[in-house]
Amino acid sequence: MTACAVVLLAGCATEAKVENPFFTEYTTPFQVPPFDQIKIEHYKPAYLKGMEEQVAEINAIINNPEAPNFENTIAALDQSGKLLSKVAIVFSGLNSANTTPEMQALSQEMSPLLSKHSDDINLNPKLFARVKEVYENQESMNLTKEQKKLLDETYNDFVRSGANLDAEKQEKLRELNGKISMLQLKFGQNMLAETNAFQLVIDNEKDLAGLPDNIIANAAQDAKAAGMEGKWLFTLQNPSIMPFLQYAENRELREKIFKGYINRGNNNNENDNKQVVKDLITARMEKAQLMGFNNYAEMALETRMAKTPEAVYNLMDQICVPALKQANVELADIQKEIKKDGKNFTAEGWDWSFYTSRAKKAKFNLDETQVRPYLQLENVRNGMFTFANNLYGVTFTAIENIPLPHPDAEAFECKDADGTHLGVLYLDYFPRASKRGGAWCGTYRSQTYKDGKRVAPVVTIVCNFTKPSPGQPALLSADEAETMFHEFGHALHNLFKDVHYYGISGVPRDFVELPSQVNEHWVFQPEMLKLYAKHYQTGEIIPAELVEKMDKSGKYGQGFVTVEYLAASLLDMDFHVLNEIPADMDVMAFEAETLGKRGLLKQIPSRYRTTYFNHTMGGGYTAGYYSYIWAEVLDADAFKAFTEDGELFNKEMAAKFRKYILTPGGIDDAMDMYVNFRGKEPGIDALLENRGLK
Ligand SMILES: [Zn+2]
Repeated sequence: MTACAVVLLAGCATEAKVENPFFTEYTTPFQVPPFDQIKIEHYKPAYLKGMEEQVAEINAIINNPEAPNFENTIAALDQSGKLLSKVAIVFSGLNSANTTPEMQALSQEMSPLLSKHSDDINLNPKLFARVKEVYENQESMNLTKEQKKLLDETYNDFVRSGANLDAEKQEKLRELNGKISMLQLKFGQNMLAETNAFQLVIDNEKDLAGLPDNIIANAAQDAKAAGMEGKWLFTLQNPSIMPFLQYAENRELREKIFKGYINRGNNNNENDNKQVVKDLITARMEKAQLMGFNNYAEMALETRMAKTPEAVYNLMDQICVPALKQANVELADIQKEIKKDGKNFTAEGWDWSFYTSRAKKAKFNLDETQVRPYLQLENVRNGMFTFANNLYGVTFTAIENIPLPHPDAEAFECKDADGTHLGVLYLDYFPRASKRGGAWCGTYRSQTYKDGKRVAPVVTIVCNFTKPSPGQPALLSADEAETMFHEFGHALHNLFKDVHYYGISGVPRDFVELPSQVNEHWVFQPEMLKLYAKHYQTGEIIPAELVEKMDKSGKYGQGFVTVEYLAASLLDMDFHVLNEIPADMDVMAFEAETLGKRGLLKQIPSRYRTTYFNHTMGGGYTAGYYSYIWAEVLDADAFKAFTEDGELFNKEMAAKFRKYILTPGGIDDAMDMYVNFRGKEPGIDALLENRGLK
């Protein structure tokens, strides 16, 4: 007992000298967060102090004896809560990319406090009264376009946050907000636990038949790391399960891992998400109805480019018919391959990838393994930088000796054509248990202004690419290369941003994928491939014949891809257009019914099923998963604009795209921004052509 106390005291004494990094200005290169100094114990005090400071700032606004005006109310509110944002942006970034049980526990602990804190601001009647006064007297204030937009957004945000509700309803709203944020958090944590829990352990070499050598080597390495040397371990991480489904000849094992994947969160254990989903969609619906809408989708869509659920369903209906037709053609090809294989079963979900890949090979004589050697990670990365340089004149230079969000990440400085510093970009490529799945782009500091000067952003791209075996280079699949260019588009959107106020820095959810998806169009253009797709051993540029095969086969499989995506988008919408939720609702039965009634194929499950659909259940893309295809209408049309003159690196269009889309945040209505760039509204034809659905 005594010994412990002494140790503890000594510990306290030394730690007291280390200042909380969030409480001082970062003194690191480019003032990136000092990741190496930030410890778990720094977050909570910073969160608490951050909230306290913002409360004081809000009180100062309310108690200002001067009449409310733009500067003392709207701008002051926009600038409040700096410390809180500073800690939250680092915590949430790391909680996704490199979480720990302690961080997860802390996010659970902070969630209700943060939810209450933002409600205290959004439902503060004195604050709203001042905002309203400015809003109603804006004509006399001579505001800039940016200021006017911030004022409108601020006022509308208050209204949408319940400022106009009576006290009783506001109390109910607070309760629902707290509940929703806890449930979203719980959903994500269950999903991570379920993804990590599944293991397919192979101890008979025969069961590896069909798998490429690098995948086998990785599985051996994963088994060894898990204390099962001599065996092979496959997991539900994409770089492990996806090649397994594509190549493993053992059908039973494909079924096993496939079922493991599609049943995450649906195993009736402590990480089951069914009740979480039901509680969540109920709370969201109640919130929407409290706010005067029929359902959550109506409320969420009000601020989007699409504006109404009808507009979303209308677009999806137009794509669904040709996509299903194409998926049935692919299914027939699959059945042919099964027959060729000397078998006569009907294809199931776990057969799709395996036989599509064979059908593709039979049709185009192209196998993904032929392409990978030309897509070495570093080459793709450098190609991506060259691409940005060719279009926008910007450069990326590696930065040494800078704190990294994880030792596996690397850092680059982005400079404008004239040498101006635009921001820092981190790249973090490979999966680990502490990282959530998928790929994303985030920031560790958003672009802002301080004392009239632009403060550059700190941007991060996080992926889950195939990890190379020790001593081997990382060779990407075509999909992974495309993902990298996609996330890089989000990164450029962040790096180019030049906005004076936080409140108008973002763009609507269904517009945000335009900058990222438009980049995907360049990745496999022959002229682009020449710049980066070099064989990792010989340095030979990817042969024209292989490029032609890639081009032809590129559209193959779009039936499946489009249908699995549409299924998820419909599922997301269908859950959120409900005006009532029956007490005995079974969310999995709802999923089966809602997709079944549209004639979707049983072999193509929704890209994400209900219990692991983090985009919609975790928040972020709620009633918004459709955004990818909504934005695809825009990006397909935009790419047409770029290349109409037959020039792949059209600098004039790039300058316009940067000026009207990538730089000004959410300064205008999204359609107006698009029309400013393009000169007209987009049509759906370019999208259907690109997907080979026309
Ligand atoms: Zn994206």
